[in-house]
Amino acid sequence: MHIPRRPVRTAASVLWVLGTFFTTGARSPHAPSQSPHPAAAIRLAITFDDLPWVGPLPAGDSAAIQPIDRIAAVLRVHQAPATGFVICGEVAGHEALLHDWVAWGNTLGNHSWSHHDLNGRSADAWSADVQRCDDYLKAYGAGYVPYVRFPLLHEGQTRSKRDSVHAALRAMHLGVAHVTVDNSGWLLAQADARAMAAHDAAGRHAVARAFVHHIVAAVRHADGVARRKTGRSVPQVLLLHANTLVAERLDALLLTLSARGVEFISLQEALADPAYGRVDEYVGPKGLSWLYRMHPLSVADARWDDAQADSIRARFALGTPVAQAPARREAGPRPYLAFHTPRGFDSIFAAAATSARMRSLLVMHRGALVAEAYFNGAGPESPANLKSVTKSLTATLVGVALRDGSIHSLDDSIGTYLPELVHRHPDKAGITIRELLTMSSGLHPVNYGAIQQSPDWVEMLLRQSFDHRPGDGFVYDTPVLQLLSAVLQRATGLSMREQVSRNLLGPIGAELVHWRLDAQGLALGGNDAYLRPRDLVRLGELYRRGGMWSGDTVLSGDYVRQATAVQIVPPSPTVNHGTLPVRGYGYLWWALDLDGGTAYAALGHGGQFVLVFPRRELVVVMTSRWPSASSTGHYRLVTRILLQQILPRFPLRASEPP
Ligand SMILES: [Zn+2]
Repeated sequence: MHIPRRPVRTAASVLWVLGTFFTTGARSPHAPSQSPHPAAAIRLAITFDDLPWVGPLPAGDSAAIQPIDRIAAVLRVHQAPATGFVICGEVAGHEALLHDWVAWGNTLGNHSWSHHDLNGRSADAWSADVQRCDDYLKAYGAGYVPYVRFPLLHEGQTRSKRDSVHAALRAMHLGVAHVTVDNSGWLLAQADARAMAAHDAAGRHAVARAFVHHIVAAVRHADGVARRKTGRSVPQVLLLHANTLVAERLDALLLTLSARGVEFISLQEALADPAYGRVDEYVGPKGLSWLYRMHPLSVADARWDDAQADSIRARFALGTPVAQAPARREAGPRPYLAFHTPRGFDSIFAAAATSARMRSLLVMHRGALVAEAYFNGAGPESPANLKSVTKSLTATLVGVALRDGSIHSLDDSIGTYLPELVHRHPDKAGITIRELLTMSSGLHPVNYGAIQQSPDWVEMLLRQSFDHRPGDGFVYDTPVLQLLSAVLQRATGLSMREQVSRNLLGPIGAELVHWRLDAQGLALGGNDAYLRPRDLVRLGELYRRGGMWSGDTVLSGDYVRQATAVQIVPPSPTVNHGTLPVRGYGYLWWALDLDGGTAYAALGHGGQFVLVFPRRELVVVMTSRWPSASSTGHYRLVTRILLQQILPRFPLRASEPP
């Protein structure tokens, strides 16, 4: 049973992008390989305008949630903290998206309520519009950094208007989020939208190459201007937009920039540079890079930007404004991206592709990935929010901690590991690890919305009253697993992220992309871990192999058997997702009523599945978009595909393998 190691994630795209560069001869004089002074690296803050989203969405997505998640995940992978400038009047219905953006470690800034062009408004009306957005964004607490990005970078075409707007911003304690790397990415996004509407894949590819090339050239140009005007390198501020072109090409862009020695910093770090305190010498109608506006005024530098825009307009025939492509749904089969398509899987993938919520479908048989496809704009690099599959990940960490002796017994009380609780909450301190693993702590569930605002989740949980004696009944509850996170962190001396990376995913060749933390910095035991589907299938495979991987015992076989067997019977036999037959609950795993009771699953909200069928030597992973609206139709489809199309292809062995 051989599973090849995951390929180096980024090599192909690096080579592809650098190839474009060197063949056009646009090699930077500051490329790291040529510079004897590493200190000459360009420091760059990344900002996104027009949140929540601008322009058409990637094919198949009907809400902005997935693409912005994709941007956030790419930023996280590159350790590039970004600020997103919000058009507050367009947020309605997308609040969760902004909360996610902040949860991923990014910040929000003010792009006004209505995105009015200051050139066409009075200073008072425009400032009131900014004030309204400021009031709104304060609800995001520390996630909101008090900076304004002027729509179209128009800061007032007359001196009196410019001065009065800036005075109003000072009175609101708002700084100006200057842009130094202005660019024509927005034009390329138009070309991309047009190619997307025409289903022109080659056209989109050409736009994508031009995009990376253009932005890197713009960064280099800005660095040249800064050096000429200040005699040194100045931290730069890059303007991008929250659009489909950027969502799909950000990884390639950041790889190329990193390869050329660019370091990513936060907006606040960049703006702290004295260059941003220089006198603004420009008064006029244009939106200009701060580098041109600051003393000494150099409006002529904008010719470079104009020439770039002209060449992009000419190359992509953007001379006239592009009509917005109608947002109509495609008729006929939707496209999908398949890497392994065994015989008969065309129809399975086509069936899966009929759901706008489907993201990935992977099948591992006898340890080999035999089927793999992505849907609705997702790809192998798109992380999935595991939602409640996170619970099974946490349960696995308990098993790992038992194996290495950090936890002695599942019947240990939480007070054994968190002795400070014994005095504060003597009754609650007796809850055992086993009771948490089987959703039978007896604690009255906290309101999930309320605990999100709490500075101390553990304390809030322990203030809940008991609904029944611990161990007596099953109540499915997500926040209560924060008690398990606290125990694991204390018992191992490692954060949850460290535990999962070092002791679980690392040994099986997988990688954690992100795991959301609570206000105390404790990863959520029950929700919001992010993995790529290829890595998620390895978690299922680890269980199928009884905890062994490449000759090492990652988990004991005993723990695997206990965790996936029925430990407690929920009041409703199909409690989760309705459509899958469930026998009971193990340790944060569901025991399924399939294959003679030998199959089990980790299940997450909206359609995240890790399904293990030991008697078929089979692991199936499916991930989905998870809108708040009902997903029953999607669950039905997924279950039908699983039971009627996938399982019959893999014969059931007479007995479970040893
Ligand atoms: Zn804007």
